[in-house]
Amino acid sequence: MRILVTGGAGFIGSHLCERLLHEGHDVICLDNFFTGSKDNIIHLMDNHRFEVIRHDIVEPILLEVDRIYNLACPASPVHYQYNPVKTVKTSVMGTINMLGMAKRVKARILQASTSEVYGDPQVHPQKEDYWGNVNSIGIRSCYDEGKRVAETLMMDYHRQNQVDIRIIRIFNTYGPRMAENDGRVVSNFILQALHNQDITVYGDGSQTRSFCFVSDLVEGMIRMMENDQTFIGPVNLGNPVENTILEFAEKIITITGSKSGIIYNPLPQDDPKQRRPDITLATQKLGWKPAIDLENGLRSTAKYFTDRLAKG
Ligand code: NAD
Ligand code: UDP
Repeated sequence: MRILVTGGAGFIGSHLCERLLHEGHDVICLDNFFTGSKDNIIHLMDNHRFEVIRHDIVEPILLEVDRIYNLACPASPVHYQYNPVKTVKTSVMGTINMLGMAKRVKARILQASTSEVYGDPQVHPQKEDYWGNVNSIGIRSCYDEGKRVAETLMMDYHRQNQVDIRIIRIFNTYGPRMAENDGRVVSNFILQALHNQDITVYGDGSQTRSFCFVSDLVEGMIRMMENDQTFIGPVNLGNPVENTILEFAEKIITITGSKSGIIYNPLPQDDPKQRRPDITLATQKLGWKPAIDLENGLRSTAKYFTDRLAKG
């Protein structure tokens, strides 16, 4: 198949491109390189089935493809809050453009939605039928509400124009090729640990997250894209093993053998207090569950950052 991956030069997108090429597909990586990097895809450039297009999905484009994975959107709070209006445009106008293309060329389209659609959840763990608790006027809303509208657009194009859609809700994902400067907890803590600097826990560290290794996520994404016609989602994809952020900091100190201490900084506004996916639906419908445990995933991520630091 000919497959388009928007945001293909980003963290998750680059792993997805790699896997799809490995399966023998033609892959077009489309990216505006806002948070993505050529370093993430340089090893794919020699493959004659791989193409890169520098383009912003806020502008229309027409490509003859069979599948569209729509991942283009900054994902870390630091990056999506840098230009919040642009973040909304990417999720809303960008998704309209990708859906318009899918309709025109009759491609199947998968939207990378997020656990952020549940906001600061009052139901725990989160199931797909929970409608969420999102602040529409807070600093996270450019991302949360943008992604919620993107889901609405997917459903409306499906109902109104019979576009073949899939929606996945991705929970916190980590692994090699996370950007060093994106401020996310995994990259921050590992880099701080490797430099023996204090680990910056925001708030008292009692908030929880559940971390999924990137190869597990990519497996779930492909299963969802290629499942039979009837199941369009939304479906949660994430690892249900939940940790407090303080436990997570301690784990990283142990795994890296770091001398770092822990300091406590203010909790950002609207930071969700707890997050854990209920993955019953993904397991029933896709036969999917994560295979990589946190310890092994963190070791491989720490090795990636160690190698990067050594290269300078
Ligand atoms: P990332 O920032 O590494 O990747 C996003 C990519 O999209 C980058 O390469 C960036 O340059 C590109 N991009 C951004 N705006 C664009 C635009 N307007 N036009 C074209 N390209 C654009 O982030 P990621 O972690 O790889 O996330 C990928 C997707 O998965 C995002 O849609 C994100 O919302 C979603 N997601 C990620 C997580 C996670 O934990 N990583 C969790 C939930 C959802
Ligand atoms: N966090 C932290 N220290 C950091 C970066 C993040 O304590 O240096 C916390 C953050 O407040 C949040 C959790 O870790 O509670 C996950 O943050 P991240 O930005 O990675 O993802 P998200 O909040 O979008 O789940």
